[in-house]
Amino acid sequence: MGRTLQLHRFSAFMERAVSLERALEIAMQIPMQRNPEILALDKASGRVLFDDLSSHVDDPRFDNSAMDGWAVREADCEKPGSVLRIIGISQAGSAEVPRVGKGEACSIMTGAPIPEGADAIVMVEDSSTQGDTVKITGPARPGFIRRRGENLSKGDLPLKSGQLLTPSAISLAATMGHDKVSVVRKPSVAVIGVGDELTPPGEKLPENSIYESNTFGISSLVEKMGGTPRRFELIRDSIDNLRVALDRAAESCDAIITSGGVSMGEWDIVRQIMEKEGVVKFWRIMMRPGGPPLFGTWKGKPIFGLPGNPVSSHVVFTALVAPWISKSLGSDGPNGPSMANRVRVKMQEPLRGAPGKLCMRRISIRQEGDSLVASTSTHQGSGNIHSMVAHNGLSLLPPDTNCEEGDIIDALWLC
Ligand code: AMP
Ligand code: MG
Repeated sequence: MGRTLQLHRFSAFMERAVSLERALEIAMQIPMQRNPEILALDKASGRVLFDDLSSHVDDPRFDNSAMDGWAVREADCEKPGSVLRIIGISQAGSAEVPRVGKGEACSIMTGAPIPEGADAIVMVEDSSTQGDTVKITGPARPGFIRRRGENLSKGDLPLKSGQLLTPSAISLAATMGHDKVSVVRKPSVAVIGVGDELTPPGEKLPENSIYESNTFGISSLVEKMGGTPRRFELIRDSIDNLRVALDRAAESCDAIITSGGVSMGEWDIVRQIMEKEGVVKFWRIMMRPGGPPLFGTWKGKPIFGLPGNPVSSHVVFTALVAPWISKSLGSDGPNGPSMANRVRVKMQEPLRGAPGKLCMRRISIRQEGDSLVASTSTHQGSGNIHSMVAHNGLSLLPPDTNCEEGDIIDALWLC
């Protein structure tokens, strides 16, 4: 009785044949749990910040010179060929710096503090020394003084929660005085392959069996997006084994991705078990390739049922799972981990769209003159994973549209 009521409730909530935008909207409502972890800064490259990071210092910390040369009073150098008395030196790291008075110059190195009294820098190339004097042969430039705090003030928050720690973000964190950072713990994602016909690579292939590839590909995609993949044993189309694996995955991982078994067939056991015992939020997306996916929860953990066709699973991961992982990590936009940039490309050949479906064909994108152009090469079948290797982009042809040679279309440029 309870089970019947539950089934009724689930089917009422499940949306079918949704657009990719709607699929994203629905999935984003059930992100993975986000937990912090403290890491030494030199171990944090490629991770995502858990909290906003504030600067411990002004940057620059003090007014300093952008050039090797002379710290002077600008007014003393108005006449070309002025001769100034050398009163000392300001080096990077100098504790004490002499004061510059009228008619005086202080030798100064890049990054060294500006002496009191000086208001401009003359480049060393614009000078010649004669004993304890220097002849100024070029302009004195106030613009060569880097002002205290002109980049950052103490307490500023230039690195926000959700920021991907790129090499330059790591450098900025160090500039701000951080030797440790709080990052988002890598979510662990169970990757479960389903199918009777599958044999792990390296093993002897029985007749009519194929090497299993998706759990390797999907794990690698999870890793690329900043997760820790947990590849499970293959499920050979047994609903009982699948249930055990899903339970184990829900207990030990933050999310679950399955491959295969989500279509209409009798052996599509992921769809069957999810409909009967899980919570399905949507099933099927109006896209090609990659029509059959489902999304929901199993024992409270988010689960994506990706299609078994290798290209479909990669395309759905790129278009749906990758942005969902990025959002789960707390990134919202270009500051986070991502697998693709949206661009406009000029097609060098006609491209056939799909009735009622967003069409994501594999395309090769490159710069030619002022524009990005795109073409296709290998066979486009959704079973041909080589087509993903041979191309570097995906078309975003809206439903029911074809593209002619020379048309400009939206596309994803994979990175
Ligand atoms: P399915 O979604 O289970 O109907 O599978 C669709 C196609 O993808 C079939 O040709 C399967 O043999 C193939 N396939 C399913 N799972 C995998 C996998 N893990 N690795 C490689 N191919 C797969
Ligand atoms: Mg199958």
